[in-house]
Amino acid sequence: MSDYAFDTLQIHAAAEPDPATGAVQVPIYQTTSYAFKDADHAARLFNLEEVGFIYSRLTNPTVMKLAERVAALEGAAGGVTCSSGHAAQIMALFPLMGPGLNIVASTRLYGGSITQFSHTIKRFGWSCTFVDFDDLDALEAAVDENTRAIFCESISNPGGYITDLPAVAKVADKVGLPLIVDNTLATPYLCRPIEHGATLVVHSLTKYMTGNGTVTGGCVVDSGKFDWSASGKFPSLSEPEPAYHGLKFHEALGPMAFTFHSIAVGLRDLGMTMNPQGAHYTLMGIETLSLRMDKHNANAKAVAEWLEKDPRIDYVTYAGLESSPWHERMKTISPKGAGGLFTVAVKGGYDACVKLVNNLKLFSHVANLGDARSLIIHSASTTHRQLTEAQQIAAGAAPNVVRLSIGIENVGDLIADLDQALSAATS
Ligand SMILES: *Cc1c(COP(=O)(O)O)cnc(C)c1O
Repeated sequence: MSDYAFDTLQIHAAAEPDPATGAVQVPIYQTTSYAFKDADHAARLFNLEEVGFIYSRLTNPTVMKLAERVAALEGAAGGVTCSSGHAAQIMALFPLMGPGLNIVASTRLYGGSITQFSHTIKRFGWSCTFVDFDDLDALEAAVDENTRAIFCESISNPGGYITDLPAVAKVADKVGLPLIVDNTLATPYLCRPIEHGATLVVHSLTKYMTGNGTVTGGCVVDSGKFDWSASGKFPSLSEPEPAYHGLKFHEALGPMAFTFHSIAVGLRDLGMTMNPQGAHYTLMGIETLSLRMDKHNANAKAVAEWLEKDPRIDYVTYAGLESSPWHERMKTISPKGAGGLFTVAVKGGYDACVKLVNNLKLFSHVANLGDARSLIIHSASTTHRQLTEAQQIAAGAAPNVVRLSIGIENVGDLIADLDQALSAATS
């Protein structure tokens, strides 16, 4: 199956006819539990000697098909789905971390991720050091003996910045740590981080993967390439795991160690499970991912080029523009285009941004992105509100900046709507 091209895989990966009924579309298995054939069968399932279904907090046929399809699209060994993108980030870190341990993350992250890593993970005794990932020496210097992962986004939210993944992966390799890449904005159609050296890839399936603003979901996929036993730093995977009757996951399961740990311990005990109905919508969304991303790319480029020339605009940060400092990097990391998301600095600052948002008719004012419809948000007064102004600026969400998520509507209609609202905002 992995020999097929992306636009074939997005429809056919993990989509064999249903073994029970022959159904072609993956059925919605709306069930919490599965009858064991006998006591022996139940014991084999609980021992991970046989892969099967026990209870839907851990595994469900619909939800597992989704994990398999995302893993196939990312070129990963395996994966696990969960209830949101933020849940995926905790699920990715959970097998690696413990009290007193830390991660090193890029300053250019989704605002919610900065909050999660600055504050919430401290409740678990974890911490995060934020570094500019264009400064590779600073990145390496921030790693200490308690660091367990390096974390960044491929295309970052909201600033139109693209991470030099191969260079960052080289540092991760040198210090012997897994590189975790949030690939939400790029999707595997635009960028496959594992091909650039990532160990784990996390997704908010809420965004482009589902593509229509109907599902909250997340996913972690594993390259299967990291040696969890080499350094002794990842005892949950390399040593007998006390939370799973002493199983040595890496020794027993090889490249599937992370995936099985995430299901057998992570989902079992953290319970951040995706529901089958949501998985069904996301599977349907993924079938058209490449078509949608091509249109998002084309529309975003046209809108960004129009805005960049407009006298009411200070600047546009979109890696798809020739003028972007990240345009060269786009050609190797995300060669089909820079996606649908970028920020615009409006002359007139905070007040003009608020008026622009209020006067748009086609663009929805929402905290989501990656929808078929075009969206706008003033990050400084919403998603990035919890951050200091310095953090806002570092994250590309300064007070004079709005974030646009360009949809797949007619681009002429989008430009006309922006034109009338900019006139109202800056007059
Ligand atoms: C939205 C988003 C998240 C969080 O995902 P949820 O599904 O909202 O929990 C994480 N990272 C990025 C880049 C996002 O855009």
